[in-house]
Amino acid sequence: MSESLLQVQNVEKYFPIRGGLLFREVARVSAVNDVSLEVKLGETVGLVGESGCGKSTLGRVIAGLYKASSGKVIFNGHDMANLSKAQLREQSRNIQVIFQDPYESLNPRHAVGYILEEPFLIHRMGTSAERRKWVDELLDTVGLPADAKSKYPHEFSGGQRQRIGIARAIALKPKLIVCDEPVSALDVSIQSQIMNLLIDLQRDRGLAFLFIAHNLSVVKHCSDRIAIMYLGRIVEFADAHHLHERPLHPYSQALISAIPVPDPTIEPSRHILEGEVPSPANLPSGCHFHTRCPFAQERCRTDVPPLRDMKLKGEFHQVACHFAGEVSFAKLPSLIK
Ligand code: SF4
Repeated sequence: MSESLLQVQNVEKYFPIRGGLLFREVARVSAVNDVSLEVKLGETVGLVGESGCGKSTLGRVIAGLYKASSGKVIFNGHDMANLSKAQLREQSRNIQVIFQDPYESLNPRHAVGYILEEPFLIHRMGTSAERRKWVDELLDTVGLPADAKSKYPHEFSGGQRQRIGIARAIALKPKLIVCDEPVSALDVSIQSQIMNLLIDLQRDRGLAFLFIAHNLSVVKHCSDRIAIMYLGRIVEFADAHHLHERPLHPYSQALISAIPVPDPTIEPSRHILEGEVPSPANLPSGCHFHTRCPFAQERCRTDVPPLRDMKLKGEFHQVACHFAGEVSFAKLPSLIK
């Protein structure tokens, strides 16, 4: 699991705010700000952050649903911006998306059989009989009965609809699936079933996942590496177990302290961050986190901390904090005991 599949290099994505008589750009919402990230073949990378931090936008840039404002997305050795239409179509087979809301992502006017056959039709694959057989196999793979193909999305529960979304995502045998909060709209009892299905599919098919979530506990057990995102930037990227054992960025420390501990004998020590997340239309200077960081110093207000390699105990660990390794909530009195 060492070959690189996806490289995101210094990607920025902003959305213009237009106004005035001539509808000119008057400001920008910066959703993704100079992000670099790598996903290896067969690897699961968790991408975690609060709502509005830019993680879904980054996922959509990687999947080709949004064009990056600057920077590169290199997939399978190809710079996605330099591909011809035909090459882009071929490469797009290898990157699929599972969306958060399985109902909104399925066309309610089409029966499930057509929804699952559509990717093959778009890519002109197989005869009619072959496509029917592939649809039956997909339904079986995701644990749905064969008669599901004659039904419509509204006839299924939320968990079943997400299974249909997963079946569609794996139809073309992609190498990478961007899972954009695939379980956050589901009941807790269903979440674990869908997570287990995704983990089984990854094991059986050698898939790589970019698993986007706002809840660190969702990605904790399924990720090889986890990237923490705050206001458009990656602030920490590390091996999953290493991040949990020794988070170095204050924001990661606060997120990890918020994970419930299923042991009543352990007294939780939560680090509550004060203040609101600033607007992406008016980003703070220097370190984006300085307005909420209890360790902020003068330098944090002016200098952007680069994502630098910490190489602790030889493991992969990158952190964007001027004082990484020195700052810890353990050195502050806990705000809630
Ligand atoms: Fe806090 Fe400064 Fe580190 Fe940013 S760079 S996380 S403000 S200590």
